[in-house]
Amino acid sequence: MNESEKNIKENFEYKAEMKQLLNIIIHSLYTHPEVFMRELVSNASDALNKLRFRRLTDSNILSPELELSIRISLDKENMTFTIEDTGIGMAREDLIDKIGTVASSGTIEFLKNLKDEQKSLDGQLIGQFGVGFYSVFMVTEQITIDTRSVDPEGKSYRWQSEGDDKFTIEEIEERQRGTRIYFKLREDYKQYCDEFQVKSVLKKYSNFVDFPLFVGDEEINKVTALWHRKKDDIKVEEYNEFYKYLTNDFEEPLGHLHLAIEGNINFKALLFVPQTAPPSFFRETSDKSLHLYSKKIFIQDDAKELLPDYLKFVRGIVDTEDLPLNVSREVTQSSPLMTKIKNVLTGKILTLFEEWAVNDKTKYEKFFKNFGSLFKTGVNSDFSNKDRIVELYRFESSALPKGELTSLKEYCSRMKENQKEIYYISGDTRDSIMKNPNIEYFIAQNLETLFITDPVDIFTIPYLHVYDGKSLKSIEKADVQISDESQQSRDRINPEMATSLIALFKETLGVQVEDVIESKRLVESAATLVVGQQGLDVQMEKMMQYLDKEFTVSKRILELNTSHPLIKNLSTMLIADASNPVLLRSIWQIYEGALLIEGHIKNPSEFVARMTEFMTEATN
Ligand code: ADP
Repeated sequence: MNESEKNIKENFEYKAEMKQLLNIIIHSLYTHPEVFMRELVSNASDALNKLRFRRLTDSNILSPELELSIRISLDKENMTFTIEDTGIGMAREDLIDKIGTVASSGTIEFLKNLKDEQKSLDGQLIGQFGVGFYSVFMVTEQITIDTRSVDPEGKSYRWQSEGDDKFTIEEIEERQRGTRIYFKLREDYKQYCDEFQVKSVLKKYSNFVDFPLFVGDEEINKVTALWHRKKDDIKVEEYNEFYKYLTNDFEEPLGHLHLAIEGNINFKALLFVPQTAPPSFFRETSDKSLHLYSKKIFIQDDAKELLPDYLKFVRGIVDTEDLPLNVSREVTQSSPLMTKIKNVLTGKILTLFEEWAVNDKTKYEKFFKNFGSLFKTGVNSDFSNKDRIVELYRFESSALPKGELTSLKEYCSRMKENQKEIYYISGDTRDSIMKNPNIEYFIAQNLETLFITDPVDIFTIPYLHVYDGKSLKSIEKADVQISDESQQSRDRINPEMATSLIALFKETLGVQVEDVIESKRLVESAATLVVGQQGLDVQMEKMMQYLDKEFTVSKRILELNTSHPLIKNLSTMLIADASNPVLLRSIWQIYEGALLIEGHIKNPSEFVARMTEFMTEATN
């Protein structure tokens, strides 16, 4: 840009999703509009962190001696709010790419839902969704940003927007390094140019800001890195506030760990387990992870290599003296030091969970219900800790009321004397499992059965195999141990009649089934399908189907309940008139009905056509 082009305002249009987002922010109801201050301070602090890090590694920067600080000034008369930092600043492209563009698709979706449901947009949620800067539009109609980047050759720019569909950028007179953001407050938010109000909003939070923060002439924070203080001197409230500062979560964490490790490796860490996963946590891969510091200096906020994937819900900071300060991202990624820290952190986090599981069951179960799906995957990926993770696994079970959980250890302590295997059954929900004919016998006999309903268990159960010498056994397999005596008392058709009926079933169904047998397990239902000896475990089969769409499930064994009135009637019909067409149709209907329950029916329209025929006859 040459001299004559200075002061020419360039117009830009927001991208479509940005327009939607702004529209939602501006036209929604919201609680906690004061969060805009925290968002601005947090952005300023990030910009200063980036500057401080850059200064360590690059001597060619603008005004290296300029003091690092954040200043807020308020003008009551003109109702303006101004925040200025001496951080990294923004180049023209940053104003377009970072300020003018927003967030993940998940954010927009979430906000749209809120609006559709006429719910209020809780200002506290805003930070979590990475729309931080735009929260300012809750309290103003026009925002101006003046900024100059750290690059000594860089120019100064002004960005302006009224939150409608466009923004402007123009070059301005040279200013100092960093960013100043200012705006006039809307009449209904004029309290935010009152010093007392502003200080009280920022007070709690500002102590974690790692740079002097001024409101007017007063420096309102005393800078200390919390993790460098002694554990005993820190109150739980301080930990909780720090967590909120770090993560933008508005809920308190479920718990924290404060570590000071000395010896072969040296580091301090402050880790938090959130209460709930942020929306979209399981859908999107976030780039936020543990924050890495070296001797109190911020290095990066996405040090993914410090935690295994299955613990990535843990938030916090790690500060190590063992990293060189001019460390690059590539170095941290491949550094053996990072792996060592990761191993220590993993062990400590598992210990924390073990303590909860023993001393505070409610807390542990809350954690497990919210993060279990991810945590459990540790059994496939972290072999060195597999045994500890297995102990921390929890299940619903037929012996417990809905919603209560059991460990495998507790299950084993309740096993019947002659029971050799740990029974489980899988299904979409507890309710659908309770309607599965395969569980009837186990309920009737009081044989505790674990319920596998979490889709991720498809991948984890096959890795459990055996616990404490007892194998995990799907009760949907034909070879599951069923005691004869208990079912002998039932009033069944006589053995010859059973044999001829079974022969007719086999002849009719042919290659569709592996076998047809008299069932020992059924109590209420007429028939069920079970997996033959050669077949894979049901859970394993589901995994194979997931991984390979072409995978065909093994043939099933059809079990018939020879004490059921329907089976008895068919048997009588066979003796009276073996050619009665109702017989064959019933056989198909029974088989496909069982397939339907199992979820493997291939041709539901034939099933329904046959049922319609039956009903037509019955209603004739
Ligand atoms: P987030 O902070 O979650 O990335 P924001 O909407 O608050 O989202 O900010 C968008 C981006 O704008 C930031 O990531 C940063 O690159 C840039 N930015 C915002 N404020 C400043 C500032 N004071 N100094 C430098 N860059 C900033």
